Amino acid sequence: MAQIPRAALDYLTKEINGISADAKTKVLRVLKELDWNDAPACRDAVVDVVNAVLDNYGLAAGQAAADFFDVSREMAVGEKLGATATADRDPAATEGAIRAFVDNVNDGDCDAFERLVLSRIDYEIKRAAGTTMMENAARDPLSPRFARVPSGGETCKFCLMLAGRGFVYHSKKTAGEFGHYHDNCDCRTVASWDKDGVEGYDPTAYHNEWLGRENFTIPEAKLTRYSLCMESERGRDKAIAFRDALGFTEEDAGEIMGQVYRWVGEHEPAFRESGKYGDSYTTDMVMVGKSGKTARVVVGWMKDHGKDKMRLTTIYVARRKG
Ligand SMILES: [Zn+2]
Repeated sequence: MAQIPRAALDYLTKEINGISADAKTKVLRVLKELDWNDAPACRDAVVDVVNAVLDNYGLAAGQAAADFFDVSREMAVGEKLGATATADRDPAATEGAIRAFVDNVNDGDCDAFERLVLSRIDYEIKRAAGTTMMENAARDPLSPRFARVPSGGETCKFCLMLAGRGFVYHSKKTAGEFGHYHDNCDCRTVASWDKDGVEGYDPTAYHNEWLGRENFTIPEAKLTRYSLCMESERGRDKAIAFRDALGFTEEDAGEIMGQVYRWVGEHEPAFRESGKYGDSYTTDMVMVGKSGKTARVVVGWMKDHGKDKMRLTTIYVARRKG
């Protein structure tokens, strides 16, 4: 038994986000000083500082990941590998990216340029951590498997797809698929030497949520401005029911959407009727609210003629029987 504790994973994410934040602060200080009257000189200065900062901070992120790798290995098999860190750096690629970003400044949009540079830094930091995990897994004679495990609030669709795969062995194919990273990602690559995985990580749930997002659309405003909205004349009754039955308010729209996507990824909605614009369907699901509350929730869907995805038209807590 060597399940990786959730707290350990959250700690790693905090560490990596902290490293990224420090790297961004350093670069931002230089960006604020730039005088764009000499654009080529500015561009070169940005390339230099970003490459210098990423050499250091990328390695720091890699080291955090390497430490995590060794600690989890010791827990699972009683021995460290002596994991090594990589910053996974290609300075020429970074330079190419920054040169492309400079085009934005030519239109005078410095804020957009800053955002692009900072997101590039975050992306490279996340990549350094992920590549470090995968490279150590690849050279470990005990051939651990690895997975992409979400650890933040919201998970992007691409990461949901990978998280839904569960733990996989290292191969050319998996290295290619798992080698994609993006900025602002709170998913971590984690290695495992046994069947115990990570506390609270359920690949099937992520797979279902990914399937749901592939085939269904939930316009967030249907929740925030209608079914969860106390100020909406027509939504108010529904909002009260969500609050009373499940403890959910407007702020829980993301959680509700996740649950609906997961449910419909696994359970096909029931056909209701065919109309002029499309076919309507309904889902009758069990939703889990705060402090263990559960309630039946009904979701209405419309599949417009000629469209592949169903879109949510209404969602409400079903009235209790009796
Ligand atoms: Zn992600």
